[in-house]
Amino acid sequence: MGFHTATLCLHSEEETVNCDHSGAVSFPIYQTATFSHRNLGENTGYDYSRIQNPTREKLENVVASLEKGCEAIAFSSGTTAIGALIELFHAGDEVLTYFDLYGGTIRMFDTFGKNHGVKFRYVDFIHEDIETYIGEQTKAIFIETPTNPMMHILDIRGLHTIAKKHRLLLIVDNTFLSPYFQNPLELGADIVIHSGTKYLCGHNDAIAGFLIVKEEELAGRLRRIYQIAGTALAPFDSWLILRGIKTLPLRMEQAQKNAFAIVDWLKENPEVKQVYYPGIEDSDGYEISLAQSSGFGGMVSFELRTKEAAVTVLEHLKLILFAESLGGVDSLMTYPITQTHAEVPKELLDQNGINDRLLRMSVGIENIEDLIADLEQAFSYIKG
Ligand SMILES: *Cc1c(COP(=O)(O)O)cnc(C)c1O
Repeated sequence: MGFHTATLCLHSEEETVNCDHSGAVSFPIYQTATFSHRNLGENTGYDYSRIQNPTREKLENVVASLEKGCEAIAFSSGTTAIGALIELFHAGDEVLTYFDLYGGTIRMFDTFGKNHGVKFRYVDFIHEDIETYIGEQTKAIFIETPTNPMMHILDIRGLHTIAKKHRLLLIVDNTFLSPYFQNPLELGADIVIHSGTKYLCGHNDAIAGFLIVKEEELAGRLRRIYQIAGTALAPFDSWLILRGIKTLPLRMEQAQKNAFAIVDWLKENPEVKQVYYPGIEDSDGYEISLAQSSGFGGMVSFELRTKEAAVTVLEHLKLILFAESLGGVDSLMTYPITQTHAEVPKELLDQNGINDRLLRMSVGIENIEDLIADLEQAFSYIKG
């Protein structure tokens, strides 16, 4: 016990993987589908890579220690990790969720959730009294914070108090801040989700997902669902995420530093109507952020005055790439209305303020002057 996060990104507390790997500093990629047995009842601890694999196990140990969980399970994507959660519920169960969520999560809830008879109810956790929505059928609360793409901050400790009182699971998608800036299990969450594709990987070169759990019993249930579903992360991709995590602290710090500078630039720009970033001191969630996170991250959303202005900026960016996804070293600009949130029902988009003037930037680790110069030249094409 006792390593700091930057050290945990390189070494798990207990190196539990039971295989000799010749002292390799970079953990080997066990690129094998199956493992041989010497005799009946004698094995190396591994049988078949869908069930377990040393490279993936190493990664799971690192992620569990970063998120302060008893166990982490590595999935082939963030989406498969979220899909596995639906198997915890039964027909007739209800899950309360905040309306600002990654679009693919909403699609999962509204299709697979519906097919299973599990109802996901979108509630305004900030302005409404959640307890009026809780009944016999309510089993869990599911949130992201900061939310995608509007960057709202939800109070994890406050939700924990309500979840505990009503015996609900509290599930937090922690993709946006990464375990470097926020550890929801320590604030009362039962399950943390990551799209490992984002900050944990950090290089826009692999797709992965994680569930990290606080208690053994729940971890066992999820591990069983995972084995039945066969949604394991491949050995090579496990290695890419392990490699990415080594620089997580450096990348998070630099992305956040750049994000603050970009927020300052955007706030001064007359073409920009509104900037959404939790590190803005007079933003609604600022005090909660300070109380539950050690940073604000590298995600910035902003609204321009017209749709034409938003499209003009997208079309003229050169260094900043027009692409979905986030959390990598390269800066990306996303147009939520046609990309991440294209399939979200219109009422939810309207309730949330996601419109055709909104852009979302995943700030990378490039030189800040170059990033601002790129924004400046792209904004210069906006017609007055
Ligand atoms: C990207 C993302 C997901 C989905 O993860 P994939 O790895 O793309 O399947 C889930 N939640 C959030 C907040 C995301 O940004």
